Amino acid sequence: MSRGRTDVAVVGAGIVGLSTAYALSLRRVDFRLFEAARPGAGQSAGRTRIFRHGHARPELVRLAVESRLVWEEWERRLGTPMLGGEGVIVTGPPALERERLLAEAGVPCRLIGPREQERALPIFRAPGGEALLDELGGSTDVRASIEALSRAVSDRLTLGQAFRLGDSPRPVVETSEGIWEAGCVIVCAGAGVRELASGLGVAVPVSIGCHARATFRVLRPGVGAALPSLQDLSGAHGETVYGGPVPGEDAYVVGLSGPDNEVPSGQDGVDALLRRIRRYVERALPGLDPEPIGARLCLTTMLPEGGDTFRIWRAGRVLVLAGDNLFKFGPALGELLADAALGEPIPSWLEAPGPARVTRAATTPAVLAPDRSPRLAGS
Ligand SMILES: Cc1cc2nc3c(=O)[nH]c(=O)nc-3n(C[C@H](O)[C@H](O)[C@H](O)COP(=O)(O)OP(=O)(O)OC[C@H]3O[C@@H](n4cnc5c(N)ncnc54)[C@H](O)[C@@H]3O)c2cc1C
Repeated sequence: MSRGRTDVAVVGAGIVGLSTAYALSLRRVDFRLFEAARPGAGQSAGRTRIFRHGHARPELVRLAVESRLVWEEWERRLGTPMLGGEGVIVTGPPALERERLLAEAGVPCRLIGPREQERALPIFRAPGGEALLDELGGSTDVRASIEALSRAVSDRLTLGQAFRLGDSPRPVVETSEGIWEAGCVIVCAGAGVRELASGLGVAVPVSIGCHARATFRVLRPGVGAALPSLQDLSGAHGETVYGGPVPGEDAYVVGLSGPDNEVPSGQDGVDALLRRIRRYVERALPGLDPEPIGARLCLTTMLPEGGDTFRIWRAGRVLVLAGDNLFKFGPALGELLADAALGEPIPSWLEAPGPARVTRAATTPAVLAPDRSPRLAGS
């Protein structure tokens, strides 16, 4: 078994681990990034994610603003466009309050009526009432982002599974490819976080679920990639959903965002959920062909507080990040975690209060959940 030493070990090469690794490389810190499958194989899989500034909490709006600035700087450094600026439309009761928070944070935005909503997103049947237009939001090109960041840190990437972490006397990462001592360990292992943290005696209260979304063809060719993203929180068409364009394609993804969007197990459960998405598309998105051309099933990691929540746990010199809806925040979290590895404080709203200790040391190795694929290839 080989042995190694590094200043910072990063576990997990999703958007957060890759961003942390890249931020460490910019700080000229010696680091090693461990990935059990392949970069972007976990929750960061697929083609597109919405970048939105609109959140219910002001600190998340501020973090989104910071993250956009880092995305833009990294686009320049890496020579790769990653963020789209097609805008995001948010309908329903939260629109008004989010407009206020965005305006306070200096984010360009405005409230628009139904006719302007349909002009901006011509595939959409506006539900009535005002909606928020987040002008600098849009879709993130997932593939371009994962590939560009992976290339930038490829000489420090070890493909291997971390199955145990230690913190005494020095942090240690035991992996399938060898044992590494580190000055600090940053765990951004998505669905693998809970097991790895429990081995350290830290209970991360994340529940692992499964989410499905479908991809539809835009009927009018040539306009798809320029369409704004959508958070339809009005419920007027029978569901609350999110949607967004697939970069470079005439295709639009749609997923449910309501409280019962969890995929029940088995093919019947997946089919039932896809039928609900299809029904929504028939009612609300007449500019799409309602026959899905793709679907993606993915694990989700949710904290008890619910959506748009994430926190960082500390166990000695090991930092563990868990939560959901992180893609847009990847670069900002990467910078923050890289700085934390160098001794900078973590913002108090983000740091979990003293770790809840688990009473038994985990003996089961961290198990990677399989990428459950439905019958259609996904975006
Ligand atoms: C369908 C869908 C739509 C979404 N839409 C949005 C959106 O519009 N906007 C948004 O901001 N967010 C969105 N999200 C959420 C966002 O994609 C995730 O929160 C984000 O990708 C998580 O990134 P991560 O790096 O923390 O974790 P992951 O991407 O899950 O990466 C963790 C990595 O760790 C590896 N790993 C796990 N265990 C181990 C181990 N023991 N050893 C080594 N490696 C390990 C895994 O293989 C994986 O590659 C969406 C998620 C899904 C599933």
